[in-house]
Amino acid sequence: MRLAQRVSRIGESATLRVSRRASQLRAEGVDVLDLGVGEPDFDSPRVVVEAARAALSDGMTRYTPVPGIQPLRQALAARYQSAYSAPWGAGDVVVTVGAKAALFELALALFDIGDEVVIPSPSWVSFPEQLRFAGAEPVDVPTDPDDGFRIRAEPVIKAFTDRTRAVIINSPCNPTGGVIGAGDLELLTAACAERGIALIADETYERFVYEGEHASAAALAGRYPETVILVGSFSKTYAMTGWRIGYVFGPPPVIRAVSNIQSHATSNPTSFAQSGALTALAEAEPDVERMIATYRQRRDVLIPKLNELPGISCRPPAGAFYTFPDVSGALCGDMSDSLAFAEKLLEEAAVAVVPGIAFGAEGHVRISFACSTEELERAIERVDRFLSGVPCAP
Ligand code: PLP
Repeated sequence: MRLAQRVSRIGESATLRVSRRASQLRAEGVDVLDLGVGEPDFDSPRVVVEAARAALSDGMTRYTPVPGIQPLRQALAARYQSAYSAPWGAGDVVVTVGAKAALFELALALFDIGDEVVIPSPSWVSFPEQLRFAGAEPVDVPTDPDDGFRIRAEPVIKAFTDRTRAVIINSPCNPTGGVIGAGDLELLTAACAERGIALIADETYERFVYEGEHASAAALAGRYPETVILVGSFSKTYAMTGWRIGYVFGPPPVIRAVSNIQSHATSNPTSFAQSGALTALAEAEPDVERMIATYRQRRDVLIPKLNELPGISCRPPAGAFYTFPDVSGALCGDMSDSLAFAEKLLEEAAVAVVPGIAFGAEGHVRISFACSTEELERAIERVDRFLSGVPCAP
């Protein structure tokens, strides 16, 4: 069967490849410690589960309006209004099948073949693939590990050309945990506004900030209403990955286009999952705060231990639940890059991490601390033992 050319422009996500092999080993009875996962290890909050169960029992089993149920759109608008003084109302948001669908629909809505989209890198695996799928070209602008992978406005602005249509800012960042400061975000948004470039802020990890305050693009939407597009998700904040609820706020023409695309793609996000999301916004804050405190504790345990390992170094991530250590000091012989490192670590020590190359950064791996402190400690012991068997590790 001949496949469409656009399929050849995208590849399988390397994050999925590692997790597939980890599952395979687990099925064979191997006790794999999985630090490769990108999802919370917590259950969804009880109140949220109960709300969805009640919605199902009450017959909420039909199509909903394409952009989502009105109470959820209203509650989202109210949340961004009170948290960031955003000017948005219920009509300025589309609820989507996860943030991933929001970003995909945005790519289809905004870009033509040959358009350029600037992305600070390392970046989440799906940004470049979604853009290529839409015919656009991702343009990477590296962030600096020694600067904690902070996103700085100046190098991003320098990468603008006549073909630049958008910038994607993912703060806090998957995979690095790097963030953007309020000053840089403002400079960048102003520069985008001046040139008619869209600023897409993927704030999926908004609530996981360990140093300072989260700088949200929502706070700039009042001043730059034509420029700011914000994508958010219930997946990580509320431990609701399987529910598939995300959303996008933006200028009216963008919201109309996204809604139109959604009407022909998924119709609407799942009805009773939207009920759960509505309850999450209203009642799950204590659960969220408990989860954030736990991630912070794990980060504080993990980072010093990682830095004690031979050939490995990292700075504490400012946000998200990932760290992106430099492992280049441990690479040698037949383990000469991040993919070989991750594969060997999985096969020989039964610890799964994601090779940095999946995110466009060689010499690093992504480690997730969305697992228990006990698992993290056992994994560190295994990595230590593994590294002491690697002949050229210092
Ligand atoms: N954006 C980033 C940066 C992510 O890391 C992820 C998931 O890993 C998503 C978006 C997708 O989230 P969702 O589960 O809402 O589709």
